[in-house]
Amino acid sequence: MELQTQFSSREDMTTYLALQLEGLYSTEAIPNEIRGGRRAALEQLEKFKAVGYGKRNFVASHTSRLSAYLRHGVLSMAEVAAHVRKNANGREKIEFLKQLAWREFFLLVLEQEGIGVLENLEAPKYATKWQNDLPEDILEARTGLPCVDTWVEKLIETGYMHNHERLWFAAYVTHWRMTDWKAGYDFFREHLLDGDIASNALSWQWVASTFSSKPYFMNQQNIQKFSSDAYCSSCRAVCPFRKSYPDLERSLFGQDYGWSS
Ligand SMILES: Cc1cc2nc3c(=O)[nH]c(=O)nc-3n(C[C@H](O)[C@H](O)[C@H](O)COP(=O)(O)OP(=O)(O)OC[C@H]3O[C@@H](n4cnc5c(N)ncnc54)[C@H](O)[C@@H]3O)c2cc1C
Repeated sequence: MELQTQFSSREDMTTYLALQLEGLYSTEAIPNEIRGGRRAALEQLEKFKAVGYGKRNFVASHTSRLSAYLRHGVLSMAEVAAHVRKNANGREKIEFLKQLAWREFFLLVLEQEGIGVLENLEAPKYATKWQNDLPEDILEARTGLPCVDTWVEKLIETGYMHNHERLWFAAYVTHWRMTDWKAGYDFFREHLLDGDIASNALSWQWVASTFSSKPYFMNQQNIQKFSSDAYCSSCRAVCPFRKSYPDLERSLFGQDYGWSS
């Protein structure tokens, strides 16, 4: 029997769970929109046909939202891959299977490196002194940058963040705020419903350049385009991302990695 059916209301269930899990979370206990359980997972899988997946880098695009089910073993990668092979076509099918392959790859790296994935796998590719803790204004979503604050609020409220927002946020934390990726990893681990060791740590390390040949970063144009201008045209903040890629490379890293777009 699903947990929800044992309570007369969703509020009752939330109160019960909040008490049972006390001490394991630090912010308000908020019931999540993502339903747990195998039945809900199969419904979500059945709906997904990868239509429009080629535009997956746009935050508004329809990605599968299967990550929490995959993370907790409610769905296996093999059955998700089989479903997409059968129900999707062409480039969208290939793109989706490639993303699934990243998950598999990160798990293989975890198998090989063990808990070592929680330390820098390589030295960062630029001279940096990262601070250990995530700045309070980021944790409390009051950086004054509408984009960053919204990403944090959404993460805390929904337990989910789109992949592109995760990349932007990780770059902001690591390169602009010079904070160790491990603090960002911990923050994601606490709030993401799909938060896991391999994909989380290795994605942060990829952005930070301790698991890649150069740091990942973005500029304002990139955020504006892929967020479908959700923030920029009404933003009144002094934008730290509003520069060309060459200028950002020089100011953030003191060198030129040849990023052009
Ligand atoms: C800094 C950072 C931290 C991340 N932390 C996690 C994490 O803790 N857990 C997690 O599952 N994913 C993580 N990701 C990867 C990715 O953002 C999520 O898997 C994806 O956004 C989940 O949404 P979806 O199910 O709609 O993905 P879809 O685009 O529909 O992809 C299908 C499935 O493929 C896998 N996948 C997709 N993209 C990636 C990717 N880039 N790397 C690895 N697997 C991928 C996921 O299992 C996902 O459910 C992280 C990415 C970044 C940049």
